[in-house]
Amino acid sequence: MPGSSVDIAVVGAGIAGLSAASVLEQRAVDYVVLEASHRIGGRAYTEDVMPGLPLDLGCHWLHSASLNPFVEIAHHHGFHYDSSEKTGGVFANGTWADADQLREIEVFLDQNDKQMAALSDDAEDRALVDMTERDSPWTALSDYIDSLDSSHDPDCVSVRDVLAYRHTGEDWPVKQGLGALVVRHFGELLVTLNAAVERVEWSGPKARLVTPRGDVEANKVIITASTGILAGGDIRFDPELPDWKNEAISSLPLGNHNRIYLIFDRDVFGQEVPKRVAVLDSDSAPIRFYVRPFGFNIVHGMTGGRFADWLERAGVEASADFAMQKLKEAFGSSVTRHVVRHLVTAWRGDPWVRGAYSAARPGHSHQRGELARPIDDRLFFAGEACSSSAYASAHGAFFSGVEAAEKAAASLA
Ligand SMILES: Cc1cc2nc3c(=O)[nH]c(=O)nc-3n(C[C@H](O)[C@H](O)[C@H](O)COP(=O)(O)OP(=O)(O)OC[C@H]3O[C@@H](n4cnc5c(N)ncnc54)[C@H](O)[C@@H]3O)c2cc1C
Repeated sequence: MPGSSVDIAVVGAGIAGLSAASVLEQRAVDYVVLEASHRIGGRAYTEDVMPGLPLDLGCHWLHSASLNPFVEIAHHHGFHYDSSEKTGGVFANGTWADADQLREIEVFLDQNDKQMAALSDDAEDRALVDMTERDSPWTALSDYIDSLDSSHDPDCVSVRDVLAYRHTGEDWPVKQGLGALVVRHFGELLVTLNAAVERVEWSGPKARLVTPRGDVEANKVIITASTGILAGGDIRFDPELPDWKNEAISSLPLGNHNRIYLIFDRDVFGQEVPKRVAVLDSDSAPIRFYVRPFGFNIVHGMTGGRFADWLERAGVEASADFAMQKLKEAFGSSVTRHVVRHLVTAWRGDPWVRGAYSAARPGHSHQRGELARPIDDRLFFAGEACSSSAYASAHGAFFSGVEAAEKAAASLA
């Protein structure tokens, strides 16, 4: 609790902070978790918009499920996920892509992946944009998918970083919400909420963390705030962090990714509609929708990269209008008549995150290791951006928290 002196202080109660705390709890280490916001979970956040309709505003899919501890955690808590393949459709420039075009798209996306894999030994770490033929009819779709995966446009993303990610091809959505699962699993841990750490003084015999609820002294500090928060200077360090750490932080910026949910009062789609639909036209940005996931009467659209930033600034109504316009293009103008509500995220504007997730700038993929490297056995770092093979994910954040807690606890001895 603020006002106290502990062995380890954890800054942030997102997945990394919570997994770190659970290791410290198991080892009976004296610790405190200081969380800036009014809730735990950070980028894991499920909102119950209506009774029986849990919507994830942040993480939702169990990526690389066979490597993902949240699969077992979901079983343990009786949460359901969907491991089935989704049927996909593409509505491009006024018509539905036929089977030949869908194959053409698959081949095109596959070629980009192969071209990238062929470069794995290349001395130069290029930008993802260099991996895509720029004048294909499907370039915009490929860029859009990249912007969802990385939350950046592909000119800002290191190919080597993408190649280091361990992707098994299993992406399983959680019915009751991955955010809700995180809260259920870690909810018993003691976390001090509304305690934003404003300053970390770390040169004395003990570090001092300054919060509006009082100061905490600690032998070790585990910092899990996002690179958006660290780069923005929201937490001041005294003395300042060394240059190599600041370089790592600025090499792994957060992009943006927002969810747009349209909520209907009935099923307006029927059974024949593909479960996953991309809508493209030459005049505006593409969007992908998940149609009636888990049988809920919703459509779930997603934006990424610069366009997500632009639309977020345009506002909630503009975002919902954009999604509705795209839905009408594909399904006819009457389809949105039964939309009764919408829910739109704004991750760039979230004061405790400042974006969606990290991508390494071209030439900087090695900086993930630097971000995770402790300073003077005093300051330890965790969070999705510290993971070299599972960044931008819930499981990457989980493992990074465990690792930082183990290192910090070992250094107490
Ligand atoms: C829109 C979106 C969709 C996503 N989809 C998926 C998905 O489907 N599957 C998946 O695996 N991953 C997904 N992710 C990524 C995943 O959510 C994150 O990688 C993960 O939740 C990050 O956890 P973290 O603990 O590293 O960081 P955070 O969740 O950001 O936690 C950091 C915590 O620190 C707190 N904090 C900040 N500043 C301070 C301060 N000064 N003092 C104290 N506390 C502070 C914050 O409030 C926050 O609670 C998605 C993310 C977003 C935004």
